[in-house]
Formats: sequence, C-alpha cells, structure tokens
Amino acid sequence: MKMVWLTRKKQMLVAAALCVSFVGAPMAQAPAEAAFTQQDLNDELMMAVGWMQNSAEYRELCYQAYNVALWQVKQAVAQHKQGAKPLAIVLDADETVLDNSAFEAGLIDTDSAYSTKTWNEWCAAGEALAMPGATDFLQAVDKLGVQIFYVTNRSMDTQYEGSARNMKQLGFPQIDKEHMVFKTTTSDKQPRYDAIEAKYDVVVYLGDNAGDLPLGTYHKKQTMRNAIIDANKDKFGMKYIALPNPSYGDWEPAQYNDGDGNYWALSPKQKREARKKALRTWVAPTEKKRMKAEATEHSLVDQVKAEEAAIEKAHGLPAGAIANDIHN
Ligand SMILES: [Mg+2]
Repeated sequence: MKMVWLTRKKQMLVAAALCVSFVGAPMAQAPAEAAFTQQDLNDELMMAVGWMQNSAEYRELCYQAYNVALWQVKQAVAQHKQGAKPLAIVLDADETVLDNSAFEAGLIDTDSAYSTKTWNEWCAAGEALAMPGATDFLQAVDKLGVQIFYVTNRSMDTQYEGSARNMKQLGFPQIDKEHMVFKTTTSDKQPRYDAIEAKYDVVVYLGDNAGDLPLGTYHKKQTMRNAIIDANKDKFGMKYIALPNPSYGDWEPAQYNDGDGNYWALSPKQKREARKKALRTWVAPTEKKRMKAEATEHSLVDQVKAEEAAIEKAHGLPAGAIANDIHN
C-alpha cells in the first residue's frame, strides 16, 4: 500500500473502512437509488389480488356477508306488513357481487395503471366472475320477492350492455334498466339511494367501499371516513354488510395526507411513499441496532470515498487512483 500522500487522520479513516470491508467483505455499498415504476407499484398489488383469487379466507368472508344479508332479508320478509313499502336490497356490483380480480391481475402483467379505456374494454368483454356465493344469494333474495337494486358507478352510457350481458350469464336476477342503477352524473351514490328509499324499504346495503353505504363518506378525509364508520358500528352485520377488498377503493387515496391532495396525480414512487408514510409501524430493537450499524458503515465508506476524491483532485490523480493503489 502506498498511502504516502494521506495525512495520518485520513490513513486511519481508510484503514477503518478497509477493516469494515474486509471483515464483512464484500465492501459495503450504499444502496443505489433505483427508479420506482408502475411495475413496482403493481407488484404491491399482487398480494391483495392473490389473496382475493386464491385464499380460502376471502371465500369465507364472502359467504359470511351473504349469509348475514340473507338472514336479514328473511327476517324482514317474515315481519313485513301488508300496505307497507315493498322490500328491497341495495348493493354495489364490483367486488360486491362481481369478481374483477382478473382485470387487476392484468395490470400487473402489463405494467399498467387503471385507465377508463381498459376498464371499458373489460366491462364490454363481460368476463367478470361471480364472487363466491353471490349468485346463490341473489337468487334466494329474488325468490323471496324482494327487489334488488345494483347501484354501481359503472357508466350507464358506455358500460351497461356488457355489464348486463355478464351479470345475466352469471345467473344474477333482476337485470334490467330499472334495477341496474348505473352512474349517469355523479359518483356519489346518495341521490340514487334517496330515490330508491322514497319507494322501497331497504333491508340491507352491501358493498366493498364505504361509499356503498348511505353514510355520507363520499370524498371525505380518512379520519372522517373512519369516524363515520365507527359511529355506525352497531349497524354492521345488520343493515350494512361489508365485503372485503384490499386491492382498490376510496380508502387508497384517503391515506394520502389524510385525503388532502391529489393522490392520483402522484408518481408511482410518490404513491409508494404516501402509502408507507400512512403505516403505523413497530421495529424490533435488534433490527434498529442492525440498521444503525449498517448506516454507520455506509457513512464511513462514503466519507472515505469523499476523502479519496479530494486527495486525487489535489494531486491531479485520476478518479479511483487511490482505491486501485490500495487494492493492488
Ligand atoms: Mg365495489
């Protein structure tokens, strides 16, 4: 080693870094800042979609939701008085009775984000599946003479035909323009709920999104959404029946700055950071210690590199000359 031009302090610094690198060879490198793409963001979706498509637990929750809803409907039918408003149920379509997980999985395959264009194509294809237990549930409600209103934010203008064909093929009853209450103007479902409630006694509302319930969560911040649901906790499993959907929903943008700001305009990396920031975490003390040691090691190596670069510059040496000299 020819460290003749290094000061004593610098020699010690280099020696310390070498010690670190030789003991824990190969020499530690600070992780490179890789670009975070839509593909990386979609990889985070894989766990959610895989769980919905493949787990027994997802099926359990679907059956549980429909069983509870059907029990409520049977009770209401048994207690229904002549002359009272006719009975109805109100439910969302996507991820409430329709399984669109193949569309979500396709985003992973193509490194693409959700778009109206591809969603239109999916709806026109009519290849959604019935969620576990959905067809049996809907047919049982139909047999009891109860009206079924599919209140969905699929578009009446562009997505009705494919959706109706799809739902008929799946055996869903009451598929017509009266019962399929698609979006015409606003995504807020409350006006459509009000119109149905004016004529019918709604026994249960079912949905995978808080906005599928007439509770006023539309465009609300995360804290407010959660507070509204908490305030109505006694009604779940009674009038309100929730279906599980960890793959998308209004909860996702609500995580960002507690719903303030345009989450959908963020880059994939910024979305990932927003999701991470919203997490409540706990780190084991041994892991904290390991992280601190690694950070010190990276810092030391960076410091040595900076020292070497400064010396090389001062002596007119090419970049990397000192490292080459030391390792040769
Ligand atoms: Mg839905």
